[in-house]
Amino acid sequence: MKIPLIDLRAQYVELRTEIKEAINRVLESGTYIGGPEVEGLESSIADLLQTRYAVAVASGTDALTLSLEAAGIGAGDEVITTAFTFFATAEAIAKVGATPVFADIEPDSYNLCPKAVEAAITPKTKGIIPVHIFGQPANMDRISELAKAYSLTVIEDACQAIGAEYKGRPVGGIGDLGCLSFFPTKNLGGYGDGGIVVTNNGELAERVRLLAHHGSKIKYFHETLGGNSRLDPIQAAVISVKLGKLAEWNQRRANAAAFYDEALRETPLLAPAVTPGVSHVYHLYATQCRHREVMMERLKEHGISTGHYYPCPLHLQKALAYLGYKQGDLPVTEQVAHYSLALPISPQLTTQQQEYIIEKVHECSKGLEP
Ligand SMILES: *Cc1c(COP(=O)(O)O)cnc(C)c1O
Repeated sequence: MKIPLIDLRAQYVELRTEIKEAINRVLESGTYIGGPEVEGLESSIADLLQTRYAVAVASGTDALTLSLEAAGIGAGDEVITTAFTFFATAEAIAKVGATPVFADIEPDSYNLCPKAVEAAITPKTKGIIPVHIFGQPANMDRISELAKAYSLTVIEDACQAIGAEYKGRPVGGIGDLGCLSFFPTKNLGGYGDGGIVVTNNGELAERVRLLAHHGSKIKYFHETLGGNSRLDPIQAAVISVKLGKLAEWNQRRANAAAFYDEALRETPLLAPAVTPGVSHVYHLYATQCRHREVMMERLKEHGISTGHYYPCPLHLQKALAYLGYKQGDLPVTEQVAHYSLALPISPQLTTQQQEYIIEKVHECSKGLEP
């Protein structure tokens, strides 16, 4: 049996008819930029995340960059975030001219440690970007308290966590701004790039929209320098179809995760811990394994693809060497990153596939200490 880490085609097949209809509807409409498909998706996402505004943009990366810019963060400012995330989180901070400051994570949730965040605050700090890594919400209560105490802007990177809840509230809508990605592999993915910014602040929403549309509200009149960052109506139509399935799909992911949790006991794969009071949407099922390399190699021989998220934490990336971090600066991040082993998970993963994976994990564990 061959099992990919994620099978996007299987997801397409589940909704083939509806997706073809949606794309065709856009093609027949004659509207290929903006319009009702994009506006409809914006209002559906705002409803889902319980925010007043949602502004569709071209990618999750743009969502982050535009949010920072809209919040007035730029040269001379510091933004605290995690180094255990996809590169875009810190890249966006650097792109607007600000300095990424990395705080260490918690070993169980893999999310930002609020104590480390507090310790990293300086007079230059303007914002915090918590990342709900792998689909599990970060400690938003403590982060919001710190933001209030030090007058900081909170921008949630919820790119991996659409539908996850922190104490009953959807993530993305808790901070000042929330950023989501519609990259194809994300829990709600399009067939290309896309993203969205959500907020309850009308001024910030307007500012993001302005920056994403060449600084223009009235055609050919430009109030400020912006750029071009739009979500295509074709993508909006596809994502709207999938949105109808999101709750069920996230539940299917959670069921698959529960199945793994139970089955992995007494193997060298340590199941991801879930923080009390949150719902995890398992964008990835990332275990910790002291024998990661051997395990990945052995599973591959049985046709099972696994993932290493992330092989190089951001503070050790070449592109960010100018920040001056070195090995040992973020010990928990480094350890978690080193041992991280993700098993295949998706709503379309079948019980049969999962049973095969579990059987092979047990088989491949022989001779390895737990
Ligand atoms: C995917 C992702 C992004 C970037 O989103 P794109 O749509 O690929 O630009 C940012 N942050 C995190 C945590 C992500 O997983």
